[in-house]
Amino acid sequence: ALQLCLPLNALGFVYREARDARVNTERLFELLRERPAIADEPGLAQQQPGPGEVTFDHVDFHYDAARPILRDVSFRIPPGRTVAVVGKSGSGKSTLARLLLRFYDPDGGAIAIDGQDIATVRPSSVRGGVGVVPQETVLFNDTIGYNIAYGRIGASHDEIVAAARAAHIDQLIDSLPEKYDTPVGERGVKLSGGEKQRIAIARVILKNPRILVFDEATSALDADSEQAIQQELERLSANRTTLVIAHRLSSIVAAYQILVMDRGSIVERGTHTELLRRKGLYARLWLLQQRMARDDTDQMIPTPG
Ligand code: ADP
Ligand code: MG
Repeated sequence: ALQLCLPLNALGFVYREARDARVNTERLFELLRERPAIADEPGLAQQQPGPGEVTFDHVDFHYDAARPILRDVSFRIPPGRTVAVVGKSGSGKSTLARLLLRFYDPDGGAIAIDGQDIATVRPSSVRGGVGVVPQETVLFNDTIGYNIAYGRIGASHDEIVAAARAAHIDQLIDSLPEKYDTPVGERGVKLSGGEKQRIAIARVILKNPRILVFDEATSALDADSEQAIQQELERLSANRTTLVIAHRLSSIVAAYQILVMDRGSIVERGTHTELLRRKGLYARLWLLQQRMARDDTDQMIPTPG
């Protein structure tokens, strides 16, 4: 997908070129200088099994050479621990996830899983060991069973049912006319945002990866579903190495380490308590969210008169 994040003069240039109907999509991408995602090459190594340690070592990255996105990012997630990333929109949080999945390679530094530099590993092999719960889960126009099985193509029906049960979506599925064979998506049953996130969780349970990435996984949900899904995510990440990109700080107070990103750099890091004590950016964000949460509650209490 084309993300427009360009200086206005570049847009004007593209627009003038695009008016000229000879410009095809490829040329447009070339004009935008967007980096193509890395494709599989059969010659590359396989990701070796291990406990799931993740390291970012002095990682620099840009999509467009004129605009650095990540600068000297270093952190380590010990096996089974959770590291949380917070920061303003556009600060580079999702880019960390894309790099960990080897959609792109760093321009400087290295990313390793269990000591193996992922730039030397087939992208599909890297992705095979990482489960992702994105902001909004995209469902295929296929059956609900297929949508869960997508986590591990070839899973048996019993395994799919077990994953649905673990993600607490089995009761809903049993109530559907054709159960696991019910079509979902555009021409099928419409699922709510929370139900779709449960499908994503069932996919990950089926995949059973060592490493998890949650990218603002509850940000599109209403408060009630958010809480329920939050609990599922916590269960899922227990004993799995997890990179959680959080929009709500209350969900990450227990993280092993919190990284605060600003314009592509880690500007603060520590546990929740350490960061509050620092009285820096994190502490300000925390106070702001606390105040907003309080205001929300105030509005629900009927005022006399
Ligand atoms: P966050 O998740 O913190 O909101 P992202 O990592 O998605 O931030 O994006 C960081 C910066 O990189 C943003 O300025 C964004 O516009 C830019 N960006 C993201 N994806 C691309 C892309 N495919 N091509 C060019 N720039 C991009
Ligand atoms: Mg993002």
